[in-house]
Amino acid sequence: MDKPLETFREGRLNQLKKALARNNFEPYVVSGAGAARTLVLEQLLPKMMEEEHVKSASFGGSMTLVHSGIYEGIKALGGLEVLDTYDTSIPRYEVLNLRRKALLSDVFLTSANAITEDGRLVNLDGTGNRVAALAFGPRFVIVVAGRNKVVPDLDAAFARVRNHAAPVNSMRLDRKTPCVKTLRCENCTSPERICNTWSITEKAWPKNRIKVILVDQELGF
Ligand code: SF4
Repeated sequence: MDKPLETFREGRLNQLKKALARNNFEPYVVSGAGAARTLVLEQLLPKMMEEEHVKSASFGGSMTLVHSGIYEGIKALGGLEVLDTYDTSIPRYEVLNLRRKALLSDVFLTSANAITEDGRLVNLDGTGNRVAALAFGPRFVIVVAGRNKVVPDLDAAFARVRNHAAPVNSMRLDRKTPCVKTLRCENCTSPERICNTWSITEKAWPKNRIKVILVDQELGF
């Protein structure tokens, strides 16, 4: 067989796609970040704008959206009111107000900290805006996740988030938390702690409200 590793990875992502569909998510598998960007900007959003009258978009914290070019692409798309919660030029209180307004946007884009092989999304938030939007508020949610987010089960998801995603994010945000030094979660009491609210999205409701794009590439943390 040519390319056994690629065939294996693609097969695993397609198994996960079926598990996500069983849980009422609308899943997709794409080959890389460019294909994810094309799917979002040239297919999903235009269709949602035309058929579902989607008029506004916003974001939950996600380096995947930035690194894939989806964040910049949406701002350049036209026809959408974009609530730019990543804008570092505006004061903190205005960012928090934008995050509140984002909960009523028509479409909310984000990633996941982990996705279990049986098709559940696992996230841990500091502010809570991302897990809130996943649960309720925006009419549609698009989750873009690299293959590095896929884990066997919930225990592995919790371990991935505590001992990988959260410490790396603490480093990215220059937080004074112990995990920055020990490189694993110390369940800290630091005022700069970024870990406050867990969510496990077992199933999408209504069906297909949450679209999950699995990317056959390592993306984000
Ligand atoms: S709880 Fe504290 S130590 Fe643990 S990952 Fe979060 S910020 Fe780091």
